Amino acid sequence: MSLSSFLQGVLPQTAAGADALDQAAQGLGYTLSVPDFGGLRTEAQQTQLQTWEQQSCATGQGCYAVAPPGSSFHECGAAFDVQIVSGGSSDADYRALADLAPSVGLRAGYYFAQSDPFHFELPMSLAQACQLYNQQTTGLAIGGSALALVLLGVVVWWAYSKP
Ligand SMILES: [Zn+2]
Repeated sequence: MSLSSFLQGVLPQTAAGADALDQAAQGLGYTLSVPDFGGLRTEAQQTQLQTWEQQSCATGQGCYAVAPPGSSFHECGAAFDVQIVSGGSSDADYRALADLAPSVGLRAGYYFAQSDPFHFELPMSLAQACQLYNQQTTGLAIGGSALALVLLGVVVWWAYSKP
């Protein structure tokens, strides 16, 4: 199973980056997987993650990076999270993984001001990422509507061409 098979609905560039990262990581002896909610997220899922993070942080179970709902690359299919499941999971291992990112067209959360070692995203602004995502989903919607109209035309033609 390719890593991108766990990333349904993300941008093609994101899926390609994930598979290239996976390949490069295998070269270093790492096996990667995608955690729950590690790919495309709805705004509701992002809100849920933020709530869990706040509870975890408030109860001393650990604070971690979660972008506010409406400002996450995950919501525009331009990011994914990975876990190293074998080959090592220390900070140095995640840094080694992060250092692969530029060569596969990605930006690593490891180097964010608030480090997010599991996170990778396309190297562009959030606005650019969401524009790409909107173009892609709008394109699919237009394509789907056009197909529906053609099918309707065929059905109407068929119905009226009967003797
Ligand atoms: Zn992330």
